[in-house]
Amino acid sequence: MNDIQKFDTRLSVEKSKDGKRGVHFKRTIDDHSIDSKYLRKTEPKLPQMSEFDAVRHFTKLSKMNFSVDTHFYPLGSCTMKYNPKINEETSSMTGFASVHPLALTECAQGTLEIIYDMKTRLCELCGMDDATLWPVAGAHGEFTGVLVAKKHFEVKGELRDEIIVPDSAHGTNPATVTMAGFKTINIKSGADGRIDLNVLKQNLNSKTAVLMLTLPNTLGIFETHIEDIIKLCHDNGTLVYMDGANMNALIGLVKPGDFGVDIMHLNLHKTFSTPHGGGGPGSGAILVKKHLSDYLPVPIVVKKEGGFSVEENRPNTIGRIKAFFTNTAVLLRAYTYMIMHGPKEFKEISENAIINANYIKSKLNKYYPAYANEFCMHECVLTPSKELEEKGIKTLDIAKRLLDYGFHAPTVYFPLIVHEAIMIEPTETENKDTIDAFIETMIKIYEEGINNPETLKNAPHTMPVKRLDEVKAAREPNLRW
Ligand SMILES: *Cc1c(COP(=O)(O)O)cnc(C)c1O
Repeated sequence: MNDIQKFDTRLSVEKSKDGKRGVHFKRTIDDHSIDSKYLRKTEPKLPQMSEFDAVRHFTKLSKMNFSVDTHFYPLGSCTMKYNPKINEETSSMTGFASVHPLALTECAQGTLEIIYDMKTRLCELCGMDDATLWPVAGAHGEFTGVLVAKKHFEVKGELRDEIIVPDSAHGTNPATVTMAGFKTINIKSGADGRIDLNVLKQNLNSKTAVLMLTLPNTLGIFETHIEDIIKLCHDNGTLVYMDGANMNALIGLVKPGDFGVDIMHLNLHKTFSTPHGGGGPGSGAILVKKHLSDYLPVPIVVKKEGGFSVEENRPNTIGRIKAFFTNTAVLLRAYTYMIMHGPKEFKEISENAIINANYIKSKLNKYYPAYANEFCMHECVLTPSKELEEKGIKTLDIAKRLLDYGFHAPTVYFPLIVHEAIMIEPTETENKDTIDAFIETMIKIYEEGINNPETLKNAPHTMPVKRLDEVKAAREPNLRW
């Protein structure tokens, strides 16, 4: 048993003992100098612990954390999980870190130059004409992008209120559509996991504003008919929005602008190495073609003789979508990553992401057959085999058992269109040894499932908490403290 397994799961307030204390400060402010109405009437209910108790409590908790710095993370639909340490150095350089959000542009030339240069580089990589770096999450980028599309039709005087979203799209897409005031038209994918051109044709009409597709889609599959799909849309006056959150399967290989995408977003926290999870801060940069440039949110960073400045007055802009200059420190991290790589390296990144996912998929196919038996992009969607299902093994059992072997669980039960989905994304940065160890473990779990199914059904065995009642945990959170 290691430290983690022996961990005392009591909260600090439960470990508290009256009279225990850590550092002691001599009182420097006389209570009488503060108006009594601002003083507490009762002592705050804080845990009473010695300094060592507190330090050990939190250090042990931090060791229980699963992170990319400690473990392999096969979560799908998250894309890269590599956060180069040099990013932290550059983003915390005093010249950047000390700029006040309200600083005059003259005092923030370096930051503005990077924002400007980064937009240019992202457009080049994606074959697009213009960009905004203000959105702070993928979903925020989608929202911004759909507002840009809305403005486009408003200016043209066209009343279009429908957005087609294939069932292989990310869940944030239909949510964005609703938030932006459109109606979602959901279309079913074909058996190969791709958009069915006939189904698309049947759903396109004079009210269709946008086709919002995820590429690669949430099954990890590329839409091989993308040019036909886009032609159908454009012939109908419909814009094509590409959810490019998973661009690290495509970067350096194809440019969405070349096959006709009008608007797209990138998740810099997925494709350009900035940390993600926990709800941010992230960056969902939006890229558009020239005909949509006027609608981008302000401020616009422009290059003029003598330096960089910002423009707020653009008649057709959708307005501001974020205060100040967004999560600038996130942009600085992504920029560092970008300039560390040239076109050749970007291509290798995508190729490695694709090879790693296909390697796992083919090695595990016998035990966990892939949904739609196609080459995948950066991630693969597997399912428990018939033999496992016959033993009553569910995807959740497999995910929980992986924890016992020191692996983070993959994404499970997503995408929703796949029964008992296990979505695995190894990423481009994991080496063959790690991936092989994961494959071996998955096979071992398969064998346990066949020979000793109870082991899986009761997993995890070594974690401080076992199976949680997830519905109860969500509906009746324990808010004692
Ligand atoms: C992660 C993801 C999103 C949402 O991005 P957030 O930054 O979590 O809002 C959207 N689409 C796809 C395909 C994704 O993988």
